[in-house]
Amino acid sequence: MTTVVVVGASTGGLPMSYDIRKHLDKGHTVKVVSNIDEFNFIPSNPWVAVGWRKAEDISFKLEPYLTRKGIEFYHETCVGLDPEANKIKLSDGSEMDYDYLVLATGPALAFDEIEGFGPKSHGGNTVSVCSTPHSVEAYDEWEEFCKAPGPIIVGAVQGASCFGPAYEFGMIMETDLRKRKLRSQVPMTFVTAEPYIGHLGLGGVGDSKGLMESEMRSRHINWICNAKVTKITEDTMYVDEYNNRGDVIDQHELPFKYSMMLPAFKGSKFLQEMVDADPAKMGGPLVNPRGFVKVDQFSRNPTYHNIYALGVGIVIPPVDATCPVPCGTPKTGLMIESMVTAICHNIANNLEGKEPTAEPTWNTVCLTDMGDTGAAFVALPQIPPRNLTWAKKGKWVHLAKIAFEKYFIRNMKAGNSEPIYQKYMMKMLGITRLKSDK
Ligand SMILES: Cc1cc2nc3c(=O)[nH]c(=O)nc-3n(C[C@H](O)[C@H](O)[C@H](O)COP(=O)(O)OP(=O)(O)OC[C@H]3O[C@@H](n4cnc5c(N)ncnc54)[C@H](O)[C@@H]3O)c2cc1C
Repeated sequence: MTTVVVVGASTGGLPMSYDIRKHLDKGHTVKVVSNIDEFNFIPSNPWVAVGWRKAEDISFKLEPYLTRKGIEFYHETCVGLDPEANKIKLSDGSEMDYDYLVLATGPALAFDEIEGFGPKSHGGNTVSVCSTPHSVEAYDEWEEFCKAPGPIIVGAVQGASCFGPAYEFGMIMETDLRKRKLRSQVPMTFVTAEPYIGHLGLGGVGDSKGLMESEMRSRHINWICNAKVTKITEDTMYVDEYNNRGDVIDQHELPFKYSMMLPAFKGSKFLQEMVDADPAKMGGPLVNPRGFVKVDQFSRNPTYHNIYALGVGIVIPPVDATCPVPCGTPKTGLMIESMVTAICHNIANNLEGKEPTAEPTWNTVCLTDMGDTGAAFVALPQIPPRNLTWAKKGKWVHLAKIAFEKYFIRNMKAGNSEPIYQKYMMKMLGITRLKSDK
C-alpha cells in the first residue's frame, strides 16, 4: 500500500490533499504536514489589514476537516528531506516515510535581503500582507496610522514575483482612507520593480498598463517603476530608479508613515538548506539556488520522480528577462489548481505502473480588488505567447471577489476543490486545468 505525504496545506496543499485522497483506494494513506494548524484564505489578507475582515472570518482549523475525509494531519514543520531514503524529518525529531511526496510549501519571505525591511515582528519598518498573522499586525498599525496620517508607500521590491496584491492593497487603503475622510492628508506613492505599471511580472495582461495607470491617476497615486529599494529606516525608503538599459537615473529618499512592500520569495527553509553551493549545479537536483523545487512539465521533480511540487514554491523562470530590475513570475490560484489536478492524475498513473501524462495548463484568471471596484485579468496560458488575454475593470469584480472568498472557503471545508458545475462552466469559457482537456 502507498503513502502519499503532502507538505503544506494552503491554497495548493489543501485541495491537493482532498483530491489525491479521492483518487486513491482506501487502502492507501494520505498524510498532511503543516506548520500551521489552520487554513487561511490568503487572497483576503489585504482586507484583514484594513479591518474589513477578521482573521477568523477567513480561517478554519484543518484537523477536523481533513480527518473527516480520512486524511492524517500532522501539525509539524518539515525540517529536512532525504530524497534518496524517501523520508522527511519533522520538528518533533521524528521521521516520516513516503512513497510519493508533494511539496506545497509556498514561499519563505526574503525580508532579510534589504536592510530595515519587513514587519515589526521581523524587526523591520514596513508591514506585510503575505500571511494572515502579518495582516493582523498590519491592521493594528493601520488604526494607529489613521489617528495621525502621513505619506504611504506601497509596492513590490526587486525580485518580487507577486505584484497583484500590491496594487490591491494600495487601492484598498485608498478606498478605506476616502471612507474615513482622511484621503486628503495622505500622499501615496507606488514603488515597484516592474518596468511599467500593470506589467504584473507577466509582460502585461491585455491592456493592463493602460487600465492600471488610468486607475492610479484617478486615485492620485504617484508611481516609480524600475525601482530597487536599497534601505528602509523608520520613516524613509531609499530607492534607486533605473532606466531600461540598467543605469541608475535617479535616487529617491521617500518619507513614509505607513508602508507595505511585497518581498522577493525563496523556498521554505528546509529546501533552502538543500541548495548545492556549487554555482555550476544551479542549486542541485531538487532545488534552484533560491530553494524553489525544480519540476518538469508533469509537475514532477526531474531527478526524484516520486517527488511532485506545486504552487509558489516551484521554479518558473521569469516571463520577462528584459526587466532592468529583476521581476519574477507570479504563481496564481487557478494555475496552482491546475497543478493539483495534474499531480493527482500523474500519481494515479504511477500507481498503475504507467508514466505521467497530465500537464497543467497554467491558465490565469485573476480578480484584483480595488476596494470599491476591481479589475479582472485573463491570461490563457499565463506565460506568453497566449491564446487569449484581456483585462477589464468594473464593480462586478469587487463583488465577484467577495463571492469567490465565500465559495472557496466553503469548498475547502467540504473537501471539494472543483465542484462539477464549476468544471463545466470553466470548460464552456475555454478554461481547462489540463492540456489534454480540450
Ligand atoms: C496577499 C496575497 C494575495 C494573493 N491574492 C491572490 C489572488 O487574489 N488570486 C490569485 O490567483 N493568487 C493570489 N495570490 C497568489 C497565490 O495564489 C497565493 O500566494 C497562494 O496562497 C499560494 O499558495 P501555495 O499553497 O503555493 O503557498 P502558501 O499559501 O504560502 O502555502 C504554503 C503553506 O505551507 C506551509 N509551510 C511552509 N513551509 C513548511 C514546512 N517546512 N513544513 C510544513 N508546512 C510548511 C505554510 O505555512 C503555508 O501554510 C496572493 C498572494 C498573496 C501573498
